[in-house]
Parts: sequence; structure tokens; C-alpha cells
Amino acid sequence: MQINVSQQLKASIGSIQSYEVNEVIDIAGDGSGSLVQGEVKLTRTDRGILVKGELRTEVEVTCSRCLSPFSCPLTLNIEEEYFPTTDVVSGTSLPTPEEPSCFTIDEHHVLDLAEAIRQYKLLVIPMKPLCREDCAGLCPNCGHNLNLGPCNCPHQETDPRWSKLRKWALASDVLVNEQKGTE
Ligand SMILES: [Zn+2]
Ligand SMILES: [Zn+2]
Repeated sequence: MQINVSQQLKASIGSIQSYEVNEVIDIAGDGSGSLVQGEVKLTRTDRGILVKGELRTEVEVTCSRCLSPFSCPLTLNIEEEYFPTTDVVSGTSLPTPEEPSCFTIDEHHVLDLAEAIRQYKLLVIPMKPLCREDCAGLCPNCGHNLNLGPCNCPHQETDPRWSKLRKWALASDVLVNEQKGTE
């Protein structure tokens, strides 16, 4: 995701150029590519180039409930200033900006969006991803994926009416035993 911004660096402060993004990049860092699409606006600032725009991508994540892998759509709202390391006119090296973790434009005036996309992805990726809102999860007993249907484990009633009935049944059992005891 490299953009040559030499023309943009020569432009006057405040000038804007749009750039269409439609590229597969390795945002997971594991060699698998994700398609990143959208549009960014490159604005010439007094210090460098401000990149602003909305990018859409998808990453493979694991559902926190049923542990199935699924594709999670992400929207990245990028807003980042890139600082040149070489003067575009004279070719001389420029002092590195004070911000330690800032993004830079390399000596060939190439601005690389990939690292920013990776960082923004980490910000928006859900901590507990769900394959769907009503994911049924796994049976705590046998581990069966309940999205695929019920398992063969004895059903645990969660209906309050049943639990009341069971309490009543237990109570009457106790009663019977007590009566037996007094005989
Ligand atoms: Zn799930
Ligand atoms: Zn089960």
C-alpha cells in the first residue's frame, strides 16, 4: 500500500488529493492477505502529508463463544500525519520529527499505509468477537457447537416453571421420607 507523494509534497499547503485504495495487504501479519478498500484524502500540511479516510477490510477471527473462525468486517477511520525524511526539492535529509511513533515518508517520497492500517485494525478489532449476535456457543458438557443443533447431553432446564416444579417434587420427597421415618 505504497503511494508516491513527491508531487503532493511539492504542492502548496492545504492542497488535497484523493487516493483510491483497493489492495490486498497482510494486515494480520501472518502472510494471509486481506482486501482493503476505500478512499483516503492526502492533504499537504506545513509538516508533511495528512492522510484521512475510511477504509474497509475483513479479518479472520475466532468466535469467543463457539470458537469457530469467521470473517469479521472492520471499518478503519484513518487519520495520520506522515512526515517526510528527505526534502523533495533539494534531496537533503530532514530532521526526524519529535513524535517518536510517527509515520514517515521514505527517501523516495513513498508513503506506506500498511503499518497504519495494521495499527488501526488493532484498535477496532472486537475483544470478544461473536460469529453472530445470538451465537448459541458450545455445550459446557460435551463441547458440541450448539449452532449446529442440540447435543445428546441431558437437557438442563432453565425454564423457571420447571425448577419450581422440581423444588416441589424434592420437597414432597423429603416429606415422604420423613413420614416413613416417623412410622
Ligand atoms: Zn459463535
Ligand atoms: Zn452436550
